Amino acid sequence: MSQLLPHRPLITWQEELIQSIRCPRELLEYLQLPMELLPQAESASQLFELRAPRPYLDRITKGDPNDPLLKQILPVHDELTITPGYSNDPLEEANSNPTQGLVHKYHGRVLLIVAPNCAINCRYCFRRAFPYQDNNPSRQQWLQVFETIRADDSIREVIFSGGDPLASPDRQLQWMVDQLVQIPHIQRLRVHTRLPVVIPQRITAETLSWLAETRLQSVLVLHTNHPNELDDEVTLSIQRLRHAGVTVLNQAVLMKGVNDDLDTQVALSEALFAAGVLPYYLHLLDKVQGAAHFAVNDADAVALHQQMQARLPGFLVPKLAREEPGALNKTLIF
Ligand SMILES: *Cc1c(COP(=O)(O)O)cnc(C)c1O
Ligand code: SF4
Repeated sequence: MSQLLPHRPLITWQEELIQSIRCPRELLEYLQLPMELLPQAESASQLFELRAPRPYLDRITKGDPNDPLLKQILPVHDELTITPGYSNDPLEEANSNPTQGLVHKYHGRVLLIVAPNCAINCRYCFRRAFPYQDNNPSRQQWLQVFETIRADDSIREVIFSGGDPLASPDRQLQWMVDQLVQIPHIQRLRVHTRLPVVIPQRITAETLSWLAETRLQSVLVLHTNHPNELDDEVTLSIQRLRHAGVTVLNQAVLMKGVNDDLDTQVALSEALFAAGVLPYYLHLLDKVQGAAHFAVNDADAVALHQQMQARLPGFLVPKLAREEPGALNKTLIF
């Protein structure tokens, strides 16, 4: 058993959130990085704040400014560059957000913005500039959202989104599922989340209760970008989800300098499957202002994807896709 015990003292996920590092100087000290990185980290964090929980930081190699996990959280100078073709609302979600909390842009599926925040601030995030403050509905407004869903029987699937939906307390998520199960045409519940990767103890007994003990079929789509993100504690949390009957898939974002090489992608697929997760999407970067330095061009992405097909069994090759504003589904890239 001893190898299954967490190496960190066991504290709750809420405590881990509170103890997250938000100060650039503290981050550099904690990770033994050169203080020359401080001025850019401070200026870039004014646009989009630094936020990094310690369980995630503990998987970063100390003293390595090129660590692929560090690059996903450290604010850098490149974020201040204004790039043509990049915007603050790259998916034009402002157009499909008529009711607070509800985004209805895919056929048969609706997104509920169940949490306005995240556990971590990923530098590549397409919601760097999303108007979350306008998307924090009251209980009364949620009841209206459920009425909207009830009135449209083309909707089969409800997707908990965010921010990160698991940043919400289990009791609130349980309440939402309790409402949704009363709508006969809803068959599936899907949760898109990075939280179990960032703070694995987020998967609690209460989480398994609302997610798995329901008539709805439950799917959890993890957002894992690099094999180093899957440590023993993350794997244990995934195993608990799987044991409870939840289908677990993964969506990754393809990023220059993080995971845009064949060996990393092969290792990611293998590590995911070893943990019980099927790779689902490999997503091209959304063109959000401040993230252009992560972009991989289409030709390079397609070449990498073809090499993955040559190295991996088909079921371990994620679909290469991008989201286009106004489209009713993701666009597959060949
Ligand atoms: C693509 C995407 C969806 C919809 O996914 P499908 O599997 O294509 O239905 C939902 N949420 C997020 C965050 C996505 O990126
Ligand atoms: S967890 Fe997802 S939504 Fe949250 S900051 Fe990261 S990429 Fe953005």
